[in-house]
Amino acid sequence: QAKEAGPSTILFFEPQMLEEVSSRARLQRDLREALQRQDFALHYQPQLALDGTVVGVEALIRWRLEGHGMVSPMEFIPLAEKTGLILPLGRWILHTACRQLAAWARHGARRHLTMAVNVSAGQFQQEDFVQQVREALVETGAPAHRLKLELTESLMLQQIEAVIARMRELQALGVQFSLDDFGTGFSSLAYLKRLPLAQLKIDQGFVRDILEDHNDAAIAQTVIALGHSLGLEVIAEGVETEQHRALLAQWGCRFYQGYLFSRPLPAEALQDWLDAQPPQE
Ligand code: C2E
Ligand code: MG
Ligand code: MG
Ligand code: MG
Repeated sequence: QAKEAGPSTILFFEPQMLEEVSSRARLQRDLREALQRQDFALHYQPQLALDGTVVGVEALIRWRLEGHGMVSPMEFIPLAEKTGLILPLGRWILHTACRQLAAWARHGARRHLTMAVNVSAGQFQQEDFVQQVREALVETGAPAHRLKLELTESLMLQQIEAVIARMRELQALGVQFSLDDFGTGFSSLAYLKRLPLAQLKIDQGFVRDILEDHNDAAIAQTVIALGHSLGLEVIAEGVETEQHRALLAQWGCRFYQGYLFSRPLPAEALQDWLDAQPPQE
């Protein structure tokens, strides 16, 4: 209706709304340019088993914008989804993560590491997504069974049969799946048991408050029990203190990720961090 009202409509906008619109437009332009220049980086955050063994990493995208500093993925991933830029960006993420995974697979001490890659709903639903994953694996030589795609519950609100069929196609390549931010999206338990998942990831929003909040503690315990009874691995994210780790361990959680162990690191820094870890059997 803004169009019909004519040019004077602009008077109805609050100045801060205009600012928001123009800064979004600017961010969109910056994003497009960054994509052309490949101004992004992947950082990698270690994932550990109960005994302290590093079992894998999660790839997290980073974007440093000239004169602005770091832009949070929480800010630009949704924008990239809205504008379709997630398609080329997602392809770059898959290739970069697979290239790193392939390099580790050739490296004796790191050959067992898994690589978790976040895939947004829009990305997963592209017609050629399976083909993209296949290409990334073939072109980089990464071992498919060490690639773990992190999906979110928002994807399960889509045509569930089509989602399951696509997951099965990817699973046939050897790829594994983790359900990220579990517990935040109201996904139906009836669907949960039908999804070919390997892992549930307890959302860090619950993990954060398990020491003080009885409800969050109950939710975390329930997710751990539910995951295990469905035969899934359960990993807690956002583990910041030893108290958190110990409590989660007491509830049976066997995998951990969080600042307690390490922040997400650039590949070289992660390699130094891995070298400094106690040797594994
Ligand atoms: P996520 O996949 O749930 O990732 C976990 C987020 O928690 C990351 O934030 C990570 O840096 C942060 N984190 C890890 N350990 C701790 C901790 O102990 N305490 C706290 N407070 N935070 C911790 P980040 O990197 O800012 O990413 C935010 C979200 O953006 C991700 O949530 C994911 O949804 C999205 N994202 C990041 N990278 C990608 C990507 O490559 N592709 C897509 N599609 N989405 C991505
Ligand atoms: Mg994730
Ligand atoms: Mg998460
Ligand atoms: Mg999250």
